[in-house]
Amino acid sequence: MQTTRRKCGARAVTLVVLDKTGTVTTGQLQVAQLYPAPGISQAELLANAISLETPSAHPLAQALVKQKVSDENFSVKTVHHFKELPGLGVQAQVENDTLYGGNLKAMHAWQIFVPNGENLVQTAAGQGQTVLFFARGKQYLGAIGFSDTVKETASQTVALLRKQGIQVLLLTGDNEPTARYVAAQTGITHIQAGVLPAQKQQVIAQWQQQGKVVMMVGDGINDAPSLAQADIGLALGSGTDVAAATAGVVLLRPDLREIVTTITLSRATLRNIKENLFWAFFYNIICIPLAAGVFYPALGWKLHPMLAAAAMSVSSLCVVSNALRLRFFKPPFTHKEITTMHKILEIKGMMCGHCAAHVERALNALPGVKAKVDLASKTATVESATDVADSVLIEAVQNAGYEVTAIR
Ligand code: ADP
Ligand code: MG
Repeated sequence: MQTTRRKCGARAVTLVVLDKTGTVTTGQLQVAQLYPAPGISQAELLANAISLETPSAHPLAQALVKQKVSDENFSVKTVHHFKELPGLGVQAQVENDTLYGGNLKAMHAWQIFVPNGENLVQTAAGQGQTVLFFARGKQYLGAIGFSDTVKETASQTVALLRKQGIQVLLLTGDNEPTARYVAAQTGITHIQAGVLPAQKQQVIAQWQQQGKVVMMVGDGINDAPSLAQADIGLALGSGTDVAAATAGVVLLRPDLREIVTTITLSRATLRNIKENLFWAFFYNIICIPLAAGVFYPALGWKLHPMLAAAAMSVSSLCVVSNALRLRFFKPPFTHKEITTMHKILEIKGMMCGHCAAHVERALNALPGVKAKVDLASKTATVESATDVADSVLIEAVQNAGYEVTAIR
């Protein structure tokens, strides 16, 4: 955890505002479903969407860029005059057409008619998907549904914050049905959806005016202004540099439970400071008058200079050892290893228990990887807290003398 600047101690936080994409969810979106308009093929919709989104850094755009267009009649083209409207969508020029992509609000603003748009948003949200709409000129091309996964630690974090009497709010630029789906999965009861990046900052300012001490947690894609506005801006380690620059606290791991650690550690630190003040004053208030002989005439009490010097040191010792107790600070939850990657490798060439053990050793030697080989099915189950590229796994197996035939 790295602390750079703070306007207010995390101990006083009464409201934690969570950004959705990339904060409560992993932000590793995937294209889940294509809804082409009548007369438009899936490949045509996809090729246009990919061409348009290639220059964007948004997780939705990155999910598209990973897709391949299978139909060779439609190819990905280079776009010009690319323009991004944060929280709404993107537009760009390709050949003689303008391509548009974004949410329903953006489509309305561009005056592009989307048949059944609201229904599509609802249907997609029911499956936890976010939907984007695409058009070429005024012609509607169709919609694409994206799936995202809620982080494993999200509901535990929300529950822990609640237990400490802290309110939790999900603040997102995404549509309300999708936000509701994520909120329901994590136990969040308050949401504000369809909020543009600039409005997110205002939302936080309004809560502050109502007397809340606000901690904003985000990944920095479109939320740097609100990270700066909040009393405590907390940027997740996986986020952008701009988030790290505007936030007061930067978590080096994207584990949401570190929010709870930050607040609890801050509270423990303040309690410790108060205890230290007590110990420092307790000795001094009693011993200084005693050493000065104030009580001597009336009660006959005095303090030998040597004892006074010792008391001075004991007071410092108390303060320092009390402060050192913070080294034993434990967050109010157990840090179980979280697995975010789960892959099954099909392996050719393993004949006996020795071969299986050899492959298992080779995979387990990779940093952070936990592997188990099953000889009967000729597969290895590989888990890790962080993503490990297929190529790394293939190479490790190859170096052990075997061949990966498929990865599931
Ligand atoms: P969040 O609050 O969930 O992190 P953002 O503020 O980053 O969301 O984006 C809000 C919405 O704006 C997205 O759900 C999407 O509809 C739209 N949007 C943002 N960037 C893009 C993009 N590159 N292409 C299309 N739509 C986008
Ligand atoms: Mg975001």
